[in-house]
Amino acid sequence: MQAVRVGSYVIKQHVTGRKRYPLVLMLEPLFRCNLACAGCGKIDYPAPILNQRLSVQECLDADTECGAPIIAVAGGEPLLHKDMPEIITKLIARKKYIYLCTNALLLEKKLDDYKPSPYFSWDVHLDGDQAMHDASVCQDGVFDRAVSAIRKAKARGFRVSINCTVFDGAQPERLAKFFDEVMALGVDGIMTAPGYAYERAPDQEHFLNRQKTKQLFRDTFRLGKGKKWKFTQSPLFLNFLAGNETYHCTPWGKPLRNVFGWQKPCYLLGEGYAKTFKELMEDTAWDQYGTGNYEKCADCMVHSGYESSAVVDAFKRPLHFVKVALNGPQTEGPMAPEISLENQRPAEYNYAEHVDQRMAEIAANKKTTVRRVPAEAAE
Ligand code: SF4
Repeated sequence: MQAVRVGSYVIKQHVTGRKRYPLVLMLEPLFRCNLACAGCGKIDYPAPILNQRLSVQECLDADTECGAPIIAVAGGEPLLHKDMPEIITKLIARKKYIYLCTNALLLEKKLDDYKPSPYFSWDVHLDGDQAMHDASVCQDGVFDRAVSAIRKAKARGFRVSINCTVFDGAQPERLAKFFDEVMALGVDGIMTAPGYAYERAPDQEHFLNRQKTKQLFRDTFRLGKGKKWKFTQSPLFLNFLAGNETYHCTPWGKPLRNVFGWQKPCYLLGEGYAKTFKELMEDTAWDQYGTGNYEKCADCMVHSGYESSAVVDAFKRPLHFVKVALNGPQTEGPMAPEISLENQRPAEYNYAEHVDQRMAEIAANKKTTVRRVPAEAAE
């Protein structure tokens, strides 16, 4: 149903001649988290910003403005938001496909607040087997709690996918074994991608470059041939991860709304903020971003930018799509040409400016688009 709905949505965009359109609304109603992962670039904000929440109405308005058929609710940890059940219920009533991303620490406790629906899926963060994941989230025992929560959610009839971010040092054999194990757990799908090298992440040493990413996924997918791994991503995006597609970034495909506004240009990079979705789409200098255009994009192969490129390509080259969908990603032969970095513009650093501006707004208690909730009340 989801594939049919997305397919008809994409066809409609093309028929109406829309050049840029969103596929997935990324909704970050808060930055606050109950973990502090070494590779996370989302939680390094002063407490007054971490204490901000998007209201239920602001989340619904973001959906109305954006209109994408799929919504991924991320953060921070969304289950810390006290209004999350209401947000999800109201978005499901609009027949949007919702992926609620969570580290699962609160999942068992909060399961009663949600109802299974074909429109709703838990998306549990699991970066590999027990040792890999607990190292990734910098806390022992998190993997076991997540697996226990997945079992309980599946037993209650929920759809559950996992979100696996991989870092330098990951081994294909181990990753393949992990994919076997999560499929045996009964999850409905795997979403995977390399970690993006957030400039605010405490650990800057374990992000993969493009060549290593492609080799890792190629070697892993080779081990998965003949197995029934189910991914929530387009077959062509997986083929891209394995080094077989030269895609340019489509950052508008997964626009992000958070407590700052609509983030320019993508989920990963906060280079500026627009007040409305229309302003984001019309005023962002899109050509300045993507691998080959901007230094901060050089190693990015994340679904935020490239999943939409793969979906659009599926409509441009349907036979190629069918071939890859039937045979899986190509794991032998030469890789597709890489994009030249020769003319990329240098990185700009504007994090402090955005934080100062937001802090000034909060201090002045100006009327803003977010409401402030004490952290302890939400937790
Ligand atoms: S390549 Fe695209 S998705 Fe990746 S950081 Fe750059 S703009 Fe964002």
